[in-house]
Amino acid sequence: MATANMNENSARVQAEELRTKLNKWADEYYTYDAPSVEDSEYDAVYQQLVYLETQYPAIITPDSPTQKVGDHTLPGFSKVPHDIPMLSLGDVFSEQELADFVDRLTKSDNVNFEYNCELKIDGLAISLRYEQGKLVQGSTRGNGQIGEDITENLKTIKSIPRKLTRPINIEVRGECYMPKSSFVSLNEQRQRDGQTPFANPRNAAAGSLRQLDSKETAKRKLSTFMYNVADYDDLLTDTQSGLLEELKELGFNTNPSSQVAHSMAEIDAYIDEYQEKRDSLEYGIDGIVIKVNSLPTQRKLGATVKVPRWAIAYKFPPEEAQTVVRDIEWTV
Ligand code: NAD
Repeated sequence: MATANMNENSARVQAEELRTKLNKWADEYYTYDAPSVEDSEYDAVYQQLVYLETQYPAIITPDSPTQKVGDHTLPGFSKVPHDIPMLSLGDVFSEQELADFVDRLTKSDNVNFEYNCELKIDGLAISLRYEQGKLVQGSTRGNGQIGEDITENLKTIKSIPRKLTRPINIEVRGECYMPKSSFVSLNEQRQRDGQTPFANPRNAAAGSLRQLDSKETAKRKLSTFMYNVADYDDLLTDTQSGLLEELKELGFNTNPSSQVAHSMAEIDAYIDEYQEKRDSLEYGIDGIVIKVNSLPTQRKLGATVKVPRWAIAYKFPPEEAQTVVRDIEWTV
């Protein structure tokens, strides 16, 4: 808990220190695909900043990591504006915090208790635009408003259809990831070639997608799971679970493990099941994403500058014990 002698000025100073640290780590992670700290360390410091900014909202600055998505785009790629922003996700670290989120949503917005539970794929977000059913552009999330044009690189990935089963205009979003087996052989190869190995499959996928030569990307054996649609009003379904079915019928790879839950007990069971199965999956997951299943309700709830209000990520605990930020004694 914050100590009694903390005041707004000391909170402002401490928040600025945390932002400087987080912005440096974000640059290493998003721009250079080379993190110097574990995600759990980033998350713990981020939670300290959230805590301070919640106590003293006047200290929030527009450049705070709590107010923006991702980071800079790399020079060397054309820029793609995202008319509909590509957002991040709010996150929670315990089943109790998740229950509180669901409870608040259910009570305050009269949301039916129907949530789609999905795996949180540890890759990087991509957007694919189709005209008359043909792939015309693919991009990264970038800072959420502007991404990098990586169309040629994405065309080398087998799971991304060049042509859909229907001649429609649609923009589809999802995750590009590197299977664990490809990650191991890529790093072995890099070590043989005297190159620095990638820290994890997520960074390897991001580095592979942002190659200037698409022949390099083609060698990296990337794959995708798509889970969202932007800019398309003619969906046949009005649920998130139905959307995944529809994406599959259009020719996309969707993750087979998603499940609709009607109670907190079902959500908890889903979390427990995939926490258990996590290591046996052929791709990395760092948590579970819970989404309001009704698409009209999703639209009604909307989003903050950074995250949708209708979804939340439950992050798995890291292997080693994580700092519990709420117990930290503030020193200012
Ligand atoms: P995030 O990765 O925690 O969650 C949001 C992202 O989850 C979405 O943008 C989407 O790409 C992805 N996702 C995967 N499966 C999904 C699904 N089924 N449905 C919806 N989205 C899904 O948030 P972020 O803003 O991309 O990154 C922040 C996180 O990155 C931090 O919490 C931290 O773990 C990590 N990070 C680490 C460092 C470091 O130095 N180690 C630095 C910056 C960020």
